Amino acid sequence: MTQKYMVEPDLGFINEVVGLGGDTLKKCFQCATCSVACPISPEEKPFPRKEMIAASWGLKDKLVGSADIWLCHQCGDCSTMCPRGAAPGDVLGAIRSYAINEYAQPKILGKMVNDRSKLGILTAVPAAIFAFFAFLTVFGHEFFAKIFGGEFWYHTHDGLPVPGIAASNFISSWFVDIVFVPLALGVVVVFALGLKRFIADMHTNAVQEGKTARTDFDWKEYLQATWKTLITIGKHKKFSECGENRERATAHMMVLFSFIGLAIVTGLVFIGVYFMHQATPYSQLNPIKWVANVSGVALIIGVFLMIKSRLGKKDQKSAYKDWYILGVIMVVAVTGMFTQMFRLGGVAFLSYLAYYIHLIAVFHLFAYLPFSKMAHLVYRTAAMGYQTYSGRK
Ligand code: SF4
Ligand code: SF4
Repeated sequence: MTQKYMVEPDLGFINEVVGLGGDTLKKCFQCATCSVACPISPEEKPFPRKEMIAASWGLKDKLVGSADIWLCHQCGDCSTMCPRGAAPGDVLGAIRSYAINEYAQPKILGKMVNDRSKLGILTAVPAAIFAFFAFLTVFGHEFFAKIFGGEFWYHTHDGLPVPGIAASNFISSWFVDIVFVPLALGVVVVFALGLKRFIADMHTNAVQEGKTARTDFDWKEYLQATWKTLITIGKHKKFSECGENRERATAHMMVLFSFIGLAIVTGLVFIGVYFMHQATPYSQLNPIKWVANVSGVALIIGVFLMIKSRLGKKDQKSAYKDWYILGVIMVVAVTGMFTQMFRLGGVAFLSYLAYYIHLIAVFHLFAYLPFSKMAHLVYRTAAMGYQTYSGRK
């Protein structure tokens, strides 16, 4: 006997997916070519056709908590093959953006990050914070040094400014860390809360849809499976299986490993400054500088290749969220290099200006990370880990 289902479409969800770049959604006539064309779709319950049906019916809960939307690497193979121009790769990208907003709190911030008209206010906040701290560092030093002691300001043993041009003479490293350390902790908390819900939803969905035989959920085993998945992610194995956009793997890998290199550098500098009293900037001969410079250059090249690839793909849609994150990363990388180059060239004003813009861009990257496209790093890792955990091939 045929089973009856009550479908309760969420029209708001459909409209938001359309607004996030999934406006081709309604063109789909369910031929399933896309699921056959996808090089990385599982044999059992393949994507993206079933997601196209669910999205056009407005089945939000079925989609936002599904691991499958994250298994897609937006290579575009399915969109190229789609006979109706329904661009399923782009629709899945739009659903992922929706899912990021759904799991990250506060939602209002997620909406702002994805709204180009709010870029000004999102930039004005860090611009005002760092302008205030620059003012305090440059003009308030003597006054506050009497209260807190000179060392409070510049990270030197004697509390005096670093000789010559140094970023901490313009905005004390203390102030930079006062902003970024709590921010980093806040981002970890936002991600942790979002992931807790997302992992629970993925498991519920997988059990309901028969994608896994495991009805239990064991956190220890899940974390072990996710750990194993990190090797696949690091090697970009899934990217390499794509046809249309295979060259994206190189650019993506350059960006990923540059960020890892820069994170290591930041950690080492933090230890150097706070625990070993080593004031920055470091000598160009210092190995930490080598890693920083190689990572910085690789980051610029990687993002440049990504932008070039996007501009060259006329059939692949690029939404505001795509350009926003590429723009932010490019500004972070270029201003980081300019800060150093102008310092070495002895042009203090331009070095400090570049550093000021650099801090604003880094703030964008950090503070808005759980709401931007960069959040895919976390959610895709969690979904790929769940795929391994659930035994889905
Ligand atoms: S998205 Fe295109 S290829 Fe996929 S089922 Fe719909 S019409 Fe067919
Ligand atoms: S964009 Fe690529 S990975 Fe994603 S569903 Fe289409 S073919 Fe598969």
